[in-house]
Amino acid sequence: MASMVIAVLGLVLSLGCASDRSRNHIPWEQSRIVDLTHSFESDTIVWPTEQNFKLIVQHAEDTPGGYSYASNRVEMPEHGGTHIDAPIHFSKGKQTLDQIPIERLTGAGVRIDIAEQCARDRDYRITVLDLEQWETKHGRIPDHVIVILNTGYARFWPKRKDYLGTDLRGQDGVRALHFPGLHSDAAAWLVRERHVKAVGIDTASIDYGQSTKFETHVVLLSQNVPVFENLANLHDLSARGFDVIALPMKIAGGTGGPLRIIAVVPPSPQLSGHLQQESGFLNLRQASDPGPRETTGQ
Ligand SMILES: [Zn+2]
Repeated sequence: MASMVIAVLGLVLSLGCASDRSRNHIPWEQSRIVDLTHSFESDTIVWPTEQNFKLIVQHAEDTPGGYSYASNRVEMPEHGGTHIDAPIHFSKGKQTLDQIPIERLTGAGVRIDIAEQCARDRDYRITVLDLEQWETKHGRIPDHVIVILNTGYARFWPKRKDYLGTDLRGQDGVRALHFPGLHSDAAAWLVRERHVKAVGIDTASIDYGQSTKFETHVVLLSQNVPVFENLANLHDLSARGFDVIALPMKIAGGTGGPLRIIAVVPPSPQLSGHLQQESGFLNLRQASDPGPRETTGQ
């Protein structure tokens, strides 16, 4: 009898432990982390009208005090390299970078692969049909996910001509941009039908290169859906079953800024089971939430 009580107690404890592990915490030690960020360097790709990223060495010396001392300054545009667009970037009066709720920037992700279409056509725009076809294959895009679009163009980084379609600078450069993006109709669908938290892409802009009105930016940012641009390593993600953590520098009044973004890929299904299929751990933890909270930062 006593041994049975102990066995039952043991079972209860182990179940409690397992559910604690799967419901409340990312199993960091068993997870794979994919860095979706390009390094910032002098050849980091910036918009044709922008200045390059600069690392200015201030100190790199052995001091009389017997220690070595190194310190730099950096100069960079808000919208260069791997970065975030805050809603105010294309929508007057909307959130600045420091005001975006962190809940918008963290959560379960899905990756939509349109590399094949984009390899055929540099001016390709991802359509509602592409999203529906993804759903036919991988299931419904859950509400409140972070959508990551893989055009395959990160493979050209940091070769401007291949990545942007031109290495011209200034307005001539802007006119000669040829790279794929998200069609504004598809962006509106993601916001209206799937209430996405944020959208990321591995090109220089969520609008395709030939855009002159930036309609996709307007559609997303006016609805407080932040945009991540110039992402890296998207080939290393599967269609679903990962979490995204996107933490930009908290610049007060910023219209965007440098972004460190990672994906956390949970271990094999034994531990997370259907949970991994359905959503990532971060979304589970927030499952009782009605959606991204629109509280502002300080
Ligand atoms: Zn931007």
